[in-house]
Amino acid sequence: MTMGGVTVHRLPALQDNYMWLVVDERLRAAVVVDPSEAAPVIAKVTELGVTLTAIWCTHHHHDHVGGNQEIVARWPNVAVIGSAHDGDARRIPAQTGRVSEGDLVPLGPQADGARVIAIPGHTLGHTAYLLGDRLFCGDTLFGGGCGRLFEGTPAMMVASLAKLRALPDDTLVHCGHEYTWHNARFAAETGIEPDNARRRESHARLAADPSQRTVPLRLGDEKATNPFLRWDTPGLAAWTGKRDPVEIFAELRARKDRWRA
Ligand SMILES: [Zn+2]
Repeated sequence: MTMGGVTVHRLPALQDNYMWLVVDERLRAAVVVDPSEAAPVIAKVTELGVTLTAIWCTHHHHDHVGGNQEIVARWPNVAVIGSAHDGDARRIPAQTGRVSEGDLVPLGPQADGARVIAIPGHTLGHTAYLLGDRLFCGDTLFGGGCGRLFEGTPAMMVASLAKLRALPDDTLVHCGHEYTWHNARFAAETGIEPDNARRRESHARLAADPSQRTVPLRLGDEKATNPFLRWDTPGLAAWTGKRDPVEIFAELRARKDRWRA
C-alpha cells in the first residue's frame, strides 16, 4: 500500500513469518524489517530497482534476523539497526546501529524517520518502529494475540502493549507472523468475552477462509477484539477470575501458553 510516498511490501517467509519492505518512492530507498530469509528480499529489491539502506530488527530471534548476514554480504553499506540491549548482548547478526526509546531512524538520506518504541516482554531488547501510521512490532502484538514472554514479565509486557494501545485507531499493525486464525480460535473455544460481537464477526470471516492473510491489521480493531489488549475490561476479569490488570494479563497469557489448537 502506498501512502505519503511510502510503499510497504509484505514478503511472506518461512512457515508463517512476514518480512516488510518499506520503500520511499521519491528517493527510491528502502528498508527491510525482520528479514528471516535473504533471498526473497534481495529478489524484491532487485526487481523494484531501489537501494536498500537499512535492516530494522525488532528482536534477535532467528526467524527475524536469519537473512541479515547474507543481505549485508550482498550490500555491505546496509545499516543493521537493533536495540542497544541486543547490541550489548551481541545477538543480532551484523548489527551496526543501536537504538533506544524515542530515537528516530531514517528510511534513507533526507527521508522521514521512524520512531523507536521500546516494547520489552517477548524479549528484553524488543523494539517497534513507527513510521507515520505504520507500526512494525515484530512478535509483541499479533492479530488477536501477543508474543510469548520468553524474557520479560507480565507487567513489562502490559506496559509495552499499553504503549501500542495508546496509538491512534487507524495505525496499521505490521507484525511478524500470521497467527490471527489461531488466536481467534483460542478466544472462541475458551469462551473469552462471548458477547464481543466484533470478535464473533471477525472470527466468522476467518472461518470462511482460514488461509487468508490478515496483516497489516487496523489497531482500532485489535483494541476492540484482541483479549491481550483488554486486561482492564470486565469481560477479561470475569474470564480469568482476577481483578488486577497485570494478573488478568498474566493468567490470559498462561492459559494461552497451555492451549493447543
Ligand atoms: Zn520472536
